[in-house]
Amino acid sequence: MAFPTNAKYVIVGAGIHGLSTAYHLALELKRKGEGVGSDVLILDKSSIAAGASGIACGVVRNNYYQPAMRELMAHSVKVWESDPDAYSYHPVGYMQISPEVMHEDVSTIAEQQKDIGYESVFIEGAKASTDYMRHLFDDWQAQGITSVLHEKPGGYANNTRSMYGLAGKAEAEGVRILTGATVQEFERGNGSGAITAVVTDRGTVACDYVVIAAGPWVKSLWELLELPRAVNIKGSDGEMHHDIPMWIYWSLQEGTLGVDPKMQRTNDGEMPPVIHVDSDAPLVSDVDGSVITEEMWGIYYKPDFHFNGIQGGAAPFKVPTEPDKVAVDPYGPDSPDFVVGGEFSHMWCSALAHCQKRFEGQTPKYKDEPSGGIGAFTPDSFPVFDVFCENCYVIADSNHGYKMLGVGKLVAEEIAGASSALLEPFRFSRYEQGKLHPVSNSPFPWS
Ligand SMILES: Cc1cc2nc3c(=O)[nH]c(=O)nc-3n(C[C@H](O)[C@H](O)[C@H](O)COP(=O)(O)OP(=O)(O)OC[C@H]3O[C@@H](n4cnc5c(N)ncnc54)[C@H](O)[C@@H]3O)c2cc1C
Repeated sequence: MAFPTNAKYVIVGAGIHGLSTAYHLALELKRKGEGVGSDVLILDKSSIAAGASGIACGVVRNNYYQPAMRELMAHSVKVWESDPDAYSYHPVGYMQISPEVMHEDVSTIAEQQKDIGYESVFIEGAKASTDYMRHLFDDWQAQGITSVLHEKPGGYANNTRSMYGLAGKAEAEGVRILTGATVQEFERGNGSGAITAVVTDRGTVACDYVVIAAGPWVKSLWELLELPRAVNIKGSDGEMHHDIPMWIYWSLQEGTLGVDPKMQRTNDGEMPPVIHVDSDAPLVSDVDGSVITEEMWGIYYKPDFHFNGIQGGAAPFKVPTEPDKVAVDPYGPDSPDFVVGGEFSHMWCSALAHCQKRFEGQTPKYKDEPSGGIGAFTPDSFPVFDVFCENCYVIADSNHGYKMLGVGKLVAEEIAGASSALLEPFRFSRYEQGKLHPVSNSPFPWS
């Protein structure tokens, strides 16, 4: 494609949010008779799926303790279900398996899933939980579990395949995708803060509207927009907490056990739901019997033909480096700093064996290849979806947003003039106003 010198809408980033917004904006413009797909231009510094969306485990679930997150996820699951083939989506369901310390939190989730019509089964009590799990997997042996929330919708999608499916749908509507162009600057109008052009290393594109969907790179785009590097947050104690850094990084730990994915079938021979286990039972090494941790731990896993094995992850950790000094590039498996190591594989494989006997003694089959990646998180670890500088929509999903396919649809509707009640709880002003999301007892920052 010749370098375009103007486009009505410029979207920065060809990951899940940029592509979904572009596709749905093209549909929305057509529906309203206000434009065509070719009004929308996506710019990406690398390629389609070069960021977090291309390496994500791909889990799609509703299980969030925060009511606003659940409603948003229920909406997104419907979008995944609207075209499972193109999105490479596997609706196998999802299970949250928890210890007593999380029982009350998860029962609230189950109650509210009923209220919003999201189908799930909630099992309570140690024996009932074990029986339920053994009905699915006769080798289930996890200790200290007292509740199981089985979400019937949801499941997972294949990361790069879903991105190419989405890109294909966008291009079929006329959207232009230009890769290998890095956004370096924004030009502003005289006297107003609105953006008039996006400056890249290959040229300048004049535009009416900009969408930022830059995933782990959001901090650098945020700074180009001259948005606040720190925020004031009104806590639940009513006190104002000043100068909290807007972005910090967490490292997501994932990997693959190199066995036949069919090893993890249910007793009926079906593909199983995605399994997520949190536990406060001591975790013992499957290699040498030593105690790995007596603290709370959590893992998730699924058989996956795309990764060719049992793929999953464990709770992430905060990157201790000062955010200004974190090298986001090279990203993901190419990073010299942020790929998982032996500590992860030991812990994760031992946790698999803790849960199901079939995984005992399998640690040597762990695929010793670089995996995992970092994400830019907001101060409360929940997304910010908001308009800045009059005409710039920032989609910052706090790096648990592969599942949020529907956000691009809602953002497109907002750009076209609607206002979305589902996105409202994620505005930037919530920090200053103290309209924060409730915090759960899960070991994960995004639950
Ligand atoms: C290891 C891992 C596992 C994960 N697993 C899950 C999961 O199972 N479920 C889930 O819901 N979420 C998961 N996530 C989170 C999820 O992947 C991200 O939240 C989501 O993919 C972010 O999408 P995005 O479109 O915002 O960004 P990305 O997919 O990162 O796309 C951003 C794009 O912007 C481009 N870009 C950046 N800067 C510029 C610039 N200056 N100019 C031009 N282009 C630029 C990049 O090249 C990139 O292609 C996981 C994340 C990681 C790292």
